[in-house]
Formats: sequence, C-alpha cells, structure tokens
Amino acid sequence: MQPKRLGTRLALSYILLAACIMAVFTAGTGAALYLQMRAQTVRFAIEDIETIEGLLAFTPDGRVTLREDYHNHPESRKVVDRYVEVLTPDGAVLYRNERLAGETLGGAVIPNEGVGGYSPRRTNLADGTPVVLVSRHHVLAGHPILIRLGQTEEPIYRAMELFAIAAALMFPLVIGASTFAARRVSRSILAPVQAIAVRAGQITSNRLHERIPVHGTGDEIDQLADVFNQTLARLDDSFRQLRQFTADASHELRTPLAAIRAIGEVGLDHDGSKHEYRELVGSMLEEVNRLTRLVDDLLMISRGDAGTIQLNSAPVPMLDLARDTISLLEPLADEKEQTLDLRGDERATVEGDPVFLRQALINVVHNAVKYSPRNETIFLRVDRETPGFVTVSVQDAGPGISPEHASRIFDRFYRVDQGRSRDIGGFGLGLAIAQWAVEAHRGAISVSSEPGDGSTFRISLPDLHPGQE
Ligand code: ADP
Repeated sequence: MQPKRLGTRLALSYILLAACIMAVFTAGTGAALYLQMRAQTVRFAIEDIETIEGLLAFTPDGRVTLREDYHNHPESRKVVDRYVEVLTPDGAVLYRNERLAGETLGGAVIPNEGVGGYSPRRTNLADGTPVVLVSRHHVLAGHPILIRLGQTEEPIYRAMELFAIAAALMFPLVIGASTFAARRVSRSILAPVQAIAVRAGQITSNRLHERIPVHGTGDEIDQLADVFNQTLARLDDSFRQLRQFTADASHELRTPLAAIRAIGEVGLDHDGSKHEYRELVGSMLEEVNRLTRLVDDLLMISRGDAGTIQLNSAPVPMLDLARDTISLLEPLADEKEQTLDLRGDERATVEGDPVFLRQALINVVHNAVKYSPRNETIFLRVDRETPGFVTVSVQDAGPGISPEHASRIFDRFYRVDQGRSRDIGGFGLGLAIAQWAVEAHRGAISVSSEPGDGSTFRISLPDLHPGQE
C-alpha cells in the first residue's frame, strides 16, 4: 500500500535510497577489506616462507629441522605463530612445527603444487580452523622438498566482525540522519506546492481575477504557478464572456417581451373593432417571430459552444449553394429593388454540411441586403483564385464599416449602430453564427471595407479538389 501524502512518499524513497547506498557501500567495503587482508596475509606468508627456506636443514636421520639459530632469528617469533609443514614431492612428511600438533596442513600434495612460484589457497585444519596456505617447491641440499606455510584466517574474521558491528551501529545513525534530511528536503520542496494548493482552493468563480504568487526564480514551482495563472486568466475570460452573453441575451429577450406585454395591455384597455384586434394580434405575432428567431440563434450559439452540433459532411458545390441563398433572399432584395448578381466557378466544391454553410452565407448576404440602399447591386463571386481554397465574396453598397468596428462585428451581440440594426431586425448574432459555421469547416471569414464605400465579406473554405482545373 502506498502512503497518500507525496511528502511521505518522497521521504520514504529518500530513506530507502540511503539504506540501499549504505548496504551496497558496506558490502563493497567489507569485500574490499577482506580481499586486501587476505592478500596481505598471503604476502606475509610468502615472506615467512623465504625466511624459513634459509633456516631449514636435514637431520642425520633424513628428516628436516629448523636450524639452531632459528630461535635467535629476528623473524622467528613471527614464524612460530604460523603452521609449517615440509614434505617430499610425493607427500612424505619431513617436518611439522609444534603448532600443527601432528595434524596435516593441506592434505595430500596437489600436482605441481608450489612449482614455479608460490601457490596460495584456502584450507581448513583438522579442528576446522580456516587458514591461508602458501606452498613453495624448494631444493634443500640437492633434495626437492615442498614447504607449506599456513596462517590462520581468524584475525581476518575478527576484523570483519568488528567491521560488521561498526556498520550495524552506523546503520540506524545513517537512517536517522537521512530521515531527518529527507523530511526537511521534502517539506521545503512541497511547501510552495501546498501554498499553491491553498491559494488555488481560495479562488472561486467570482474571484477568478486573483492570481497565484510567482516568485521569479523560474523553477518548476514558478512554472506551475505560471501555468495555473494562465489557466485562471483563460477561465476568467470565459466566465466574463459567459456573463456578458447572458446579460446581452436577457437584454435582447426583454425588448420583444416588453413589446408583447404593451400590445396586450393596449388590447385589454381598449374596446376596439375586430379589425383593430386582428392588427394587435398581428403585431404580437411579429414580436413572437422576432423572439423565436432570437431564441433559435441563441440555441445555435450555445450548441456550437457546447460542441453538440454534428456536422453531416458531403461535397457541396458552392455556386449551387450561393444560388439557393439568392433564391431565399430574393424577395427581400426585390422589396428594396436590389439586384443580386452571382458569378463564379461551377467546379468550386468544398466538403461540409450544407445546412450550416448555407446559414453562414444567408447571414452575410442578408446583411448586404439589409445594409445596402435601394436600387443597388450586390455582387456574389465564387472563385478558386487562392490556391487550395474556395472563396465566396459578397460585395455590397452599404455604409461600410470603419476599422475599429470591423474587428468587432463578429463578436456576439455587437452592432455598429445599435438603434438602426435593431430597427432592421438584427440581434448582432448573424456574423457570430456565420463565423462559427465557417470555422467549424476549417475556413475563415473576413471583411474589408471603406466607410462610405460598401463592404466585401469573404468566406474561404478548403477546396475539395485542390489543383484540379
Ligand atoms: P445584425 O443581425 O445586427 O446584422 P450581425 O452579426 O449580422 O448582426 O452584424 C453585426 C453588425 O455588423 C451589424 O449590426 C452591423 O452594424 C454590422 N454589419 C454587418 N454586415 C454589414 C454590412 N454588410 N454593411 C455594414 N455593416 C454591417
């Protein structure tokens, strides 16, 4: 089971790492110490053999002894501590020192033992004492002999035991120190993260303008705070837009509702003829129609925002789509005696949902009709002049749009002239919807305009057959 707190997990990993390092270090140092002590023991044994070689002599009965002056030799005291055995090459015992107490040192002779150098190996005495044994082939008074010198490994074992005890005592100290360090380090790392969490917890939807403090160190914590602040800024922006949208929508809904109520009140207060009532009901229905259009637009925008609109894509010939749009809007244009002039490339085809693409085009052409004076001509062109794109341009003879408004007319509820646009039936949502529909088809919509000299709206969509003539 993993502990839940990150600080505890960090500290535990740190302690575990310290314990592993300590264990590896202890094992490594122990092994190195053992090997070094053993090598030293072998070295001493070789030196001792060299000493013994000079002190050996045959007795008259053919055995071997250490010479008289042995006990006066400066090295003799050391040599007395060793186990010494001298054999003939075929294993007959010529000499054993007192320490061996008659026991064998290393058993039967191994082929080539001690020939051409010193052969070190480990062995046990009869009583189990572990010894390092060094053998050396030697010629004494013309007879080949094998000198074996053993040195107990017990001092090595005692040193290793001491080392193990010291390591075992150090272990809790090291773990204690690393626990202390781990807690301090994990606290100092996590304290700023906790501070961010506490601060973030205090930021509610109506305090989205608040920010997490950035200390300017440029470290990961600062980066985290920075990313969090950017998210907050985006959220703040979205919330503000949402609040604005709700306020604007409510405001727009109020106008037709107030009109319906006023017309109703007039009807109730008034004893009129059947014809007058019909007119009142007619006005009411007009407002209801206006309300319905507004609600439809709002619904479309909120579904677009929520991403619940499913596009049913198919190849759409744009000139045909423009013809459809014109036939829908011709009655309105006829009322103002305007001409809708359409020309273009029959092969210009895009991939998309004709319903939404038509809606985008209707909104733009409807504006051109609404804002152009009587008797004017509105030019619609469908071309493939920009490689890879089909462009539909709608050029009108309206009042034009100044640059400061041009950048905002695609915003929801934005109207250059509030009163005039409302009078001619606009809510300021048509271009926002057109922009959504075009962008949902990976296209772009833009306007170029000279105030007083008409406007040209351009819708560009990816060409379904790029490069085909
Ligand atoms: P509306 O329904 O009010 O026309 P739109 O979103 O379609 O809303 O347009 C936003 C605003 O952009 C309009 O209120 C109008 O001021 C301006 N506008 C749009 N099209 C044109 C045009 N062709 N000529 C001049 N102004 C336009």
